[in-house]
Amino acid sequence: MSDEEKKPARKPLTLKGAQPGEVKQTFSHGRTNKVVVEVKRRRMIGKPGEAPPPPPPPPPPPPPAAAAPKPAVKKPSPSAETPQERVARLQREAEEERLRLAEEARKRDEEEARRAAEEEKKRAEVNRKSEAEAEKRAVEVAPEEVEVEETPAAAPAGDGTPTPAPRRFTPVERPEPKRPEKKKKEEKPVRGAERPDNRRSGKLTVTRALNEDEGRRARSLAALKRAREKERRLHGGPSAPREKQVRDVVVPEAITVQELANRMAEKGADLVKALFNMGMMVTVNQTIDQDTAELLVEEFGHNITRVSASDVDIDTSEDTDPEETLKPRPPVVTIMGHVDHGKTSLLDALRGTDVVKGEAGGITQHIGAYQITTKSKDKITFLDTPGHAAFSEMRARGANVTDIVVLVVAGDDAIMPQTIEAINHTKAAGVPMIVAITKSDKPEFNPQKVRERLLEHEVIVEAMSGDVQDVEVSAKTGAGLDELIEKILLQAELLELRANPDRDAEATVIEAQLDKGRGPVATVLVTRGTLKRGDTFVVGTESGRVRALVDDKGKQIKEAGPSVPVEVLGLGGVPDAGDQLTVVENEQRAREVAQYRQEKATAKRTALAPTSFDTMFSNLKSDVIEFPVVVKADVKGSVEAINSALHNLSNDEIKVRVLHAGVGAITESDVTLAAASGAPIIGFNVRPNPKARQQLEKDKVRMMYHDVIYHLTEEIAKEMAGELGPERIETVVGRAEVKQVFPAGKKDKAAGLLVLEGVIRKGLHARLTREDVIVSKTTIASLRRFKDDVDEVRAGMECGVVLEDTNDIKAGDTLEVFEVEERERTL
Ligand code: GDP
Ligand code: MG
Repeated sequence: MSDEEKKPARKPLTLKGAQPGEVKQTFSHGRTNKVVVEVKRRRMIGKPGEAPPPPPPPPPPPPPAAAAPKPAVKKPSPSAETPQERVARLQREAEEERLRLAEEARKRDEEEARRAAEEEKKRAEVNRKSEAEAEKRAVEVAPEEVEVEETPAAAPAGDGTPTPAPRRFTPVERPEPKRPEKKKKEEKPVRGAERPDNRRSGKLTVTRALNEDEGRRARSLAALKRAREKERRLHGGPSAPREKQVRDVVVPEAITVQELANRMAEKGADLVKALFNMGMMVTVNQTIDQDTAELLVEEFGHNITRVSASDVDIDTSEDTDPEETLKPRPPVVTIMGHVDHGKTSLLDALRGTDVVKGEAGGITQHIGAYQITTKSKDKITFLDTPGHAAFSEMRARGANVTDIVVLVVAGDDAIMPQTIEAINHTKAAGVPMIVAITKSDKPEFNPQKVRERLLEHEVIVEAMSGDVQDVEVSAKTGAGLDELIEKILLQAELLELRANPDRDAEATVIEAQLDKGRGPVATVLVTRGTLKRGDTFVVGTESGRVRALVDDKGKQIKEAGPSVPVEVLGLGGVPDAGDQLTVVENEQRAREVAQYRQEKATAKRTALAPTSFDTMFSNLKSDVIEFPVVVKADVKGSVEAINSALHNLSNDEIKVRVLHAGVGAITESDVTLAAASGAPIIGFNVRPNPKARQQLEKDKVRMMYHDVIYHLTEEIAKEMAGELGPERIETVVGRAEVKQVFPAGKKDKAAGLLVLEGVIRKGLHARLTREDVIVSKTTIASLRRFKDDVDEVRAGMECGVVLEDTNDIKAGDTLEVFEVEERERTL
């Protein structure tokens, strides 16, 4: 820039003297380009005077010089513009600037080539000239340069504003070649005009005073202003929307901040900033949920278009079957109750009533559901859920397959915790309940007590003038089973259970597992339609084609209608309990839906649980003890039930952390994981494989085998309580005021106290408070009354104490004395 500045300064001088010579040279070479070349050459001369190498560098300077004025030009215009206009204009200018620079670059290249040739010729001349001459020229050159620069780069500028140059040679040369450019750059010249003018005006003053330049400049400025005004008006339309475009932003259920920024055409950093202002710490790569995204979209003034699952996914809720297609279907019954109250026995006994006995000598495989046919040829489907937790888990996933709940209560026992939970779960589901009071064969059977106790939980049986059916049964003798079945059928009749069997099937996964020989297997309950062998389906995030259907008696069947529980083979993977199975038209559709769901699931998993500062800090000061476990169980349903049961054990002080939960045998990797975290492994109906067994011994990992969730949670709760250590219960037994303090022994201090309430005993814990602030926590080291050591001093009496480990006592302090009892914790 220093070069440039020098040039302008010299300009005034050069205009007359040096120019002619130079101009001629320039012109002789050709048109504009030649001019430029000359300038450069002279510059070289000007600076080093003799060195040929310098020439090359000069070329670059011109463009900057040309560019510089333009930015400066912008300054004046803003004042007249509104902010929006300015933005639009700046954009426009930037664009023009880019075009111009490109054009210049191109020209420079051409010049360079020509210059090379010229230089050869001229160098000879130049060298001949004397130093003095060189100096003169340098002075002269500068002015020319300015002109020249303007000419090639921004011809219009020269025309419009630049005063000095136009006068002399502009008329001749410039007009013609540069016209095309001028049109494009109309604006620039204007702006360029002002700055150059200013610059020159300062430096050219002397010369200018004599010229009409000023007048010219004023005129041209006005003209340019008008032109600019006109253009602004033209651009007025487009510039407004450009300034802020309201977009319709398509937002799926989870989206990364960056992706959202792209869709909004905003900067990722701005979104992060906005989120920060909302109290969320996020990076652009993190995923946010739809609601958070909506806040952002609104914040930036765009419109959100939520893309819901229904756009890709199957939404079966909307397609209802016409009334005339509905046919009666069997009721689906779930048996719930406290552990050991006889659920399994009752289920077995009921299965025994099935008039359609399975072959294979009554060997029943593990299937989570079965259907019986009653003597009256009615069918009832029973679900063998691993507990009410699983029941609710399924319900939470919208898989409310149960029509009727049979609540099992042992007639020789009372209403137990799990009985109450079962009642609550049933009520929450709004499913009708039938109470089965079991073990009626037992001598201590007392059904009346059960009925009365149920009242406390707002279950009013018919015998107590309520509307809940109850029945006394014995799984052992079979007494009351028929009556129970009757009552189930009666209840079912009231419910008018119907479904359309003649359509593509929909079913709910009761449980699923990876079978060694058969691959992924799901036990499903058909909810409507008929599931057939060969059907293509999507289930949860998996797709598949029905390879085989196996009923509850282990028999292969061709199809399964509403309320029929059936094992499905041919899945792509293991779905979750509660997942919906939907038959679709073809494999492509099945895969598409499954893939969409998978993506969604992944996104959800990684989605940010809106991290507020609050939770961030609460996480920081995590003095919550974690109780890690690894869970392995035989079926998915159990895993889920255990998971939620364990979760329920957590409280503010300690929480269960399930490191891993899965279906199948305990493997080496489970053991490794458990060992790494010092966690026990919970094996629910599963055992370690041989390799894992070795690993268990090596890593000294503790195993907890269970087959009853309730027992399992009991044991874990006990352990967790142990982890927390015994509970400390403080009981304040006395309060005293410090009346005076005096030295005791060599360095100790003793306090003279007046016991205000309760008693003070030697050896008790004590808290010394000063103006309600605890000063120290200590114990009573010694207690005296009238120079006699005593064990206890009662309210109203005075005494002297020495406190353990502290001498910070002052008159007026309060001493609170308390007992600490350590109690074993229960969760
Ligand atoms: P669950 O934990 O609720 O599945 O209970 P079970 O069906 O495993 O039964 C627990 C215990 O009660 C077992 O020892 C059964 O033999 C016993 N039991 C179940 N039902 C009856 C019954 O009707 N009469 C008698 N006497 N014992 C029963
Ligand atoms: Mg059982």
